[in-house]
Amino acid sequence: MSYISVIIGVLLLLNTYPLLVSEDLVFRSKATTLQASVSVMVNSLSGLDRLTEENVTTAMSVVEETGLSRILVTDSAGRVLYDTRETGANVGDYALYTEIVQALMGEDAFSCTYKGAAFRSRASSPVLYQNQIIGAVYAYEYDTEQAALLADLQSNLLRLSGIVGVVVLLLSLLLSKALTLKISLLLTAIREVREGAYSHRAEIKGRDEIAQIGHEFNSLTDRLQSTENVRRRFVSDASHELKTPLAAIRLLSDSILQTDNIDPETTREFVSDIGREAERLGRITEDLLRLTRLDSGVLEPGTVVDVLPVLEQAMRMMSLVAQEKGVDLTYSASEGCTVLAAKDEIHQVIYNLTDNAVKYTPPGGAVQVSLSRESGEVVLTVADNGVGIPEADLPRIFERFYRVDKARSREAGGTGLGLSIVSDTVKRRGGTVEAANRTGGGSVFTVRWPRMEGGEGS
Ligand code: ADP
Repeated sequence: MSYISVIIGVLLLLNTYPLLVSEDLVFRSKATTLQASVSVMVNSLSGLDRLTEENVTTAMSVVEETGLSRILVTDSAGRVLYDTRETGANVGDYALYTEIVQALMGEDAFSCTYKGAAFRSRASSPVLYQNQIIGAVYAYEYDTEQAALLADLQSNLLRLSGIVGVVVLLLSLLLSKALTLKISLLLTAIREVREGAYSHRAEIKGRDEIAQIGHEFNSLTDRLQSTENVRRRFVSDASHELKTPLAAIRLLSDSILQTDNIDPETTREFVSDIGREAERLGRITEDLLRLTRLDSGVLEPGTVVDVLPVLEQAMRMMSLVAQEKGVDLTYSASEGCTVLAAKDEIHQVIYNLTDNAVKYTPPGGAVQVSLSRESGEVVLTVADNGVGIPEADLPRIFERFYRVDKARSREAGGTGLGLSIVSDTVKRRGGTVEAANRTGGGSVFTVRWPRMEGGEGS
């Protein structure tokens, strides 16, 4: 609508302004030519001391035919002495036209009107003798020629405006229809996705802004869909993981209740199994809570942490576990490995990786942990010579609940969440973690954090 009103405004201007300008030009040219004619006549009468019908007629007879519609000469009282219009031969009457009155008062007068397909121009000047007004000359011109030209211009402009108006109207209708169609497609897509149909896509053709919004909307929906899929899988995996130990607890407790004369030894065994499953449940929920906290996106402001003391503490803890399993755990570290993080996070990362290394290394194997500085980075590697990870599984081991060997992991007390926690924790502080297999067997995990100079960021 606003587009159409602008066009209407322009068309109105097109239909008025040129006409007004041309009219004004005609008025000006009329004023010059008519006043020039009048002054020629005034000159031819200027030698006379008094104007009479006879001397005026004589004087006027030598004035050349000027193509005027009417020439009128009055005396100083406004009485007609000479009139070229035959029908209006008012000789002797008073002709007190505005222009004549003005001329008799000593001023040149001119007026022009454009009406009824004609220009009507009137000019008048006083006739003087020794500075005395002895009469006035009045000329009148009725011009249809220039008026016809102007009317022509007007009708041409009108026709042109009509054509432009119709074309603009049709184009606007077409354009707005195409636009509304695209917008309604987009709206439908938005509503569908809002209702949960994440597979719905906005099919908008073209390369204009609306089509671009459509593409953006589709890629947003793609992300939404994949996030939703991940969430669903996570919920179903989590419930499945929780269900397994619960089912075991149920089975064991049912066995105790339903077996007659169960001997105390078996009861003790079953109850200790129940305890183990409960512990497992506890570990899973703890890990789930940790991941949920990481997902919530709230990042505690970190402090500059020296990784070395944290590593030493974790190694003290893990050495007992390793010793019990018969795995040789050693570590090496350099000074000045400071990163921006929270102490607990670093501990969690070192603990999870070392715990895995010990878990997946058979007795007699070795686990080496090393901490070093490498051009702006703090690098932690945890290497073992254990079972290793099949190449095909390497890209997926950081996924939630992903386990190469479910039975082995469960047996070793794993939850399938340890590496996800490591990866999320490290990434949140701008670091990276990667896993690889060692040529001699076993695997190696490498964590890189951006290094922070002491005091910075604290
Ligand atoms: P889990 O609790 O099962 O250990 P993680 O997320 O910590 O879960 O690890 C995912 C999977 O990656 C494990 O189930 C295991 O198959 C594999 N994995 C992790 N660390 C190692 C390692 N050091 N050696 C061999 N396999 C490993």
